[in-house]
Amino acid sequence: MAGIVDLRSDTVTKPSKGMLEAMMKAEVGDDVFREDPTINMLEEKLASMFSQEAGLFCPSGTMTNQIALQVHTRPGDEVICSELAHIYLYEGAGMAKNSGLSARLLKGNKGRISASEIEANINPPDSHFPRTRLVALEDTSNKGGGSCYQFDEVMKIKGLCLKKGLGFHLDGARVFNALTVRNQSPSEYGRLFDSISICLSKGLGAPVGSVLLGSRDFIKEAHRSRKSFGGGMRQAGVLAAAGLYALEHNVALLGEDHKKAKRLKTSLEQNDLVLEIIDPETNIVIFQLKPGMNSADFCKLLKDRGILAMPFGPDKVRMVTHLDIKEEDIQYCEKMIPGIR
Ligand SMILES: *Cc1c(COP(=O)(O)O)cnc(C)c1O
Repeated sequence: MAGIVDLRSDTVTKPSKGMLEAMMKAEVGDDVFREDPTINMLEEKLASMFSQEAGLFCPSGTMTNQIALQVHTRPGDEVICSELAHIYLYEGAGMAKNSGLSARLLKGNKGRISASEIEANINPPDSHFPRTRLVALEDTSNKGGGSCYQFDEVMKIKGLCLKKGLGFHLDGARVFNALTVRNQSPSEYGRLFDSISICLSKGLGAPVGSVLLGSRDFIKEAHRSRKSFGGGMRQAGVLAAAGLYALEHNVALLGEDHKKAKRLKTSLEQNDLVLEIIDPETNIVIFQLKPGMNSADFCKLLKDRGILAMPFGPDKVRMVTHLDIKEEDIQYCEKMIPGIR
């Protein structure tokens, strides 16, 4: 333990030596002209993995989501998503600001929404109502405690979208975590969606970058949209090289993060200030504190012992495991967390 165990987010990872070497060696070109060979390779690789036609490398997952929302819709349309969705809660009202959309927020279960719930919330064609245009899922769900969808339910939702003529978007910031849990191939899952956003800078450990996947026509429009969002980058192959390295080396390690999250849960169960913990399916542990303790104070108690966590509302805290949380870090947490009060 080098003094600090940083469990605030899986975005805090620093590029490893191997990753930095891959970045140094990257062949680059101007990606606004689509001439960066390393970016093209990353886009093609992810597209083919997920049974999609094309990809677009962007600076952030917020941008890939926001571009997808814009390309799927017209101003005044409505998007159906969970009330816990990142696209609604954590993207600075982007869907309203960038694309003039309204959101139909569903209660769901730990950030997951069901086909029957979606069907009950599709607006009639009557001109009073916003036009329901898109269903957006998040897998895994961040605010839902890293919960994963059942594949059967997603297939049902896909069937509904086809029947009702709705677009189907996946915020797959952590889709590789979900695939790891389901032991599922990216192609089997990816083929269900019209567009997919994938983050390289979360559990995969790259410093920057997300990729949007979709049909060739969709990505052509997305390329226009990316320019107007200011997301056209030039010799960004150095960043894409980190993504390629992550796909090759780090996807296989996600299961370790999941085991470590379960160990954190066990330690938290032994702490007297913790009321309830969402059972971690992946690398995210969200827990509620007992009345009388608030999240800011609890995080301060942790911080005094060199453990960083994130307040997630007034009485909830989030911990996230990732590549830079090593065995000795978890052992240190196991030693310290039960006794904190
Ligand atoms: C992190 C995250 C994103 C993208 O966030 P950026 O910080 O913009 O890359 C999108 N969706 C979910 C569920 C996330 O956790």
